[in-house]
Amino acid sequence: MTDYRRLRVALLGAGAVGSQVASLLLRHGDELADRAGARLELAGIAVRDVDAPRDVELPRELFTTDAETLITGADIVIELMGGIEPARSHILLGLGSGADVVTANKALLATHGPEVFEAADRVGASVYYEAAAAGAIPIIRPLRDSLAGDRVVRIMGIVNGTTNYILDRMDSEGADFADVLADAQRLGYAEADPTADVEGYDAAQKAAILASLAFHTAVPLDAVHREGITSITADMIEEAREAGFVIKLLAVCERIGVDGGESISVRVYPALIPRTHPLASVHGANNAVFVEAEAAGSLMFYGAGAGGVQTASAVLGDVVSAARRHIAGGVGVGESTRANLPVVSIGHVTTRYQITLEVDDEPGVLATIAGILSEGGVSVATLVQTVEGEDGDTARLIVGTHRAADSALSATVERLAESDVVERVLSVLRVEGE
Ligand code: NAP
Repeated sequence: MTDYRRLRVALLGAGAVGSQVASLLLRHGDELADRAGARLELAGIAVRDVDAPRDVELPRELFTTDAETLITGADIVIELMGGIEPARSHILLGLGSGADVVTANKALLATHGPEVFEAADRVGASVYYEAAAAGAIPIIRPLRDSLAGDRVVRIMGIVNGTTNYILDRMDSEGADFADVLADAQRLGYAEADPTADVEGYDAAQKAAILASLAFHTAVPLDAVHREGITSITADMIEEAREAGFVIKLLAVCERIGVDGGESISVRVYPALIPRTHPLASVHGANNAVFVEAEAAGSLMFYGAGAGGVQTASAVLGDVVSAARRHIAGGVGVGESTRANLPVVSIGHVTTRYQITLEVDDEPGVLATIAGILSEGGVSVATLVQTVEGEDGDTARLIVGTHRAADSALSATVERLAESDVVERVLSVLRVEGE
């Protein structure tokens, strides 16, 4: 057996992901040593309660509540506690003590990323976070390394498994949001408090991380436009299907031209995508990230976006990278923010829309609606009308628009809602991926 140098690894957290990382580190020691060029010695596991039951059996003597002592003696710190504090302080302590850091903590990186990366830069260490954006799917390394010689134009990601599971079941079964959510909670696909997932907060954190990396720009979380899926109804899904679309919660990060300069837009919302688009075939709780780059063209990364052992795979890949770097020495990977592009609000974004209205079924209604749209600078591409109600006194109107600025569209939809001929605006959805 090769006599490798030993690196001390401190693991913070032994929950769904941490316990699997510990187990793999202990079971695959020899293989990991050959890959890393160093023997990875699990020095200890910091938790809140050393006696709490774990998903896998782990040696009792590894557990401690003294995270600080563990961290200051480590070459590599793996942070899998989640949340902001004490995760942030522990990561900063690790970097300050000369360790490289591996984390899966999207909440922390989306809010305190610049502070963490600057701390790493100051000491020439590295922060690895492959598991923070899409669980087991390799997307950070492809964006940072494989595509380093290319220019990413747009990223469209299905980066939240819970919402994809819900929307996929609504699409395949014609079921209502509330029923599928309740079922998802029962089956463990959704948390008891599903807000972070269904309101798009989790996807927004991941979008901020992906956009920052892809566009060499620190994207603050509050610059990410966010809408969730709670207003999506079975009717909207059915209408989308009839028009050849599927509704997916998308994280979109793209370069856009504003006032003659280049800016970026980062946004999360439920959008219509053509059923022929590769992202339309992402079913269940799976994730996928569709990247468009100038030279490489379109690439899709697909797989499990969560799950303890799946996420542990991405974490261990990072641990091996950290170990190699630690052995090789030199400065850390570093996070580039050199482009520092402005992040613009949703109003600047141009997409196509599908607006569904309930209108009076009277002569002249179509002309009134066409007039409001045209005054607002929104031009009509398609129009479908169906008669509704038992006595046929209302009609459902589905208006497909040409590309329009979001600001123009919002103002126009307000005017439509106020119009005498419109009973209700039933839905407004953006179209992506055409
Ligand atoms: P988890 O199951 O809640 O486990 C958290 C672990 O951290 C527990 O072992 C807990 O200790 C420990 N911990 C929490 N606060 C602590 C504190 N103040 N001091 C010491 N230990 C503390 O979390 P998880 O699902 O494994 O997620 C870990 C990280 O991975 C999070 O950042 C999450 O966003 C990210 N992630 C998770 C997944 C996934 O599928 N689960 C996927 C991608 C990324 P006790 O056990 O003693 O309470």
